[in-house]
Amino acid sequence: GRCVVAVDGPSGSGKSTVSRRLAGAIDARYLDTGAMYRAVTWAVLRFGIDPQDADRIGKVVGEIDLEIGVDPQAPSVRADGVAVDQEIRGPEVTAAVSAVAAVPAVRHLMVARQREIIAAAGRIVVEGRDIGAVVAPDADLKVYLTASADARARRRSAEYAADVTATAADLARRDTFDSSRAASPLRQADDAVVLDTTELGIDEVVARLLELLRD
Ligand code: C5P
Repeated sequence: GRCVVAVDGPSGSGKSTVSRRLAGAIDARYLDTGAMYRAVTWAVLRFGIDPQDADRIGKVVGEIDLEIGVDPQAPSVRADGVAVDQEIRGPEVTAAVSAVAAVPAVRHLMVARQREIIAAAGRIVVEGRDIGAVVAPDADLKVYLTASADARARRRSAEYAADVTATAADLARRDTFDSSRAASPLRQADDAVVLDTTELGIDEVVARLLELLRD
């Protein structure tokens, strides 16, 4: 039957790994909303648009053709026909994505697309920053994952095969940006279950979420 799980939290909190594993375990689809904002950012950079130019970004975002694959075993993103799964994890996109994601027209369009994907899938685990509070307030389970800054930087650098010090600096910069402006995407829904994953393994987090779904 229908089951929507919202998994929110900051970068490196374990969202992606946990969400994919959970989706596999409950035979659900998987949507990485961060990948959607990253793909838009890739297209903006490819157009040669300054990521700070909110007006121009707002004008072109509707023309970007995004195709999102929701198989938890093989999630995929195409922007304007190009498979961008590798490029969207690169340093250029990572440096620009917070600014692009803050453009109101981008958020409007992405939230609408995300709701369509959720409705079409019916049974889906959705990860992001604002899923439980904004995108899917009627989700069956809302989880908010946290972890210490150290743990998040360690996980993120392993995930991106990057230097841990540089990753820590980048995470701190994005956290500050994401939480300092009024339009910060990161929202903890009032009814979200908060899980600190600093001392927990992936298996333990997934097991806990499966328990919550059974209740
Ligand atoms: O999760 P990930 O690090 O891939 O997300 C990249 C960026 O996309 C975040 O730093 C944030 O600025 C933006 N984002 C967002 N809303 C979401 C998911 C991601 O604004 N639901």
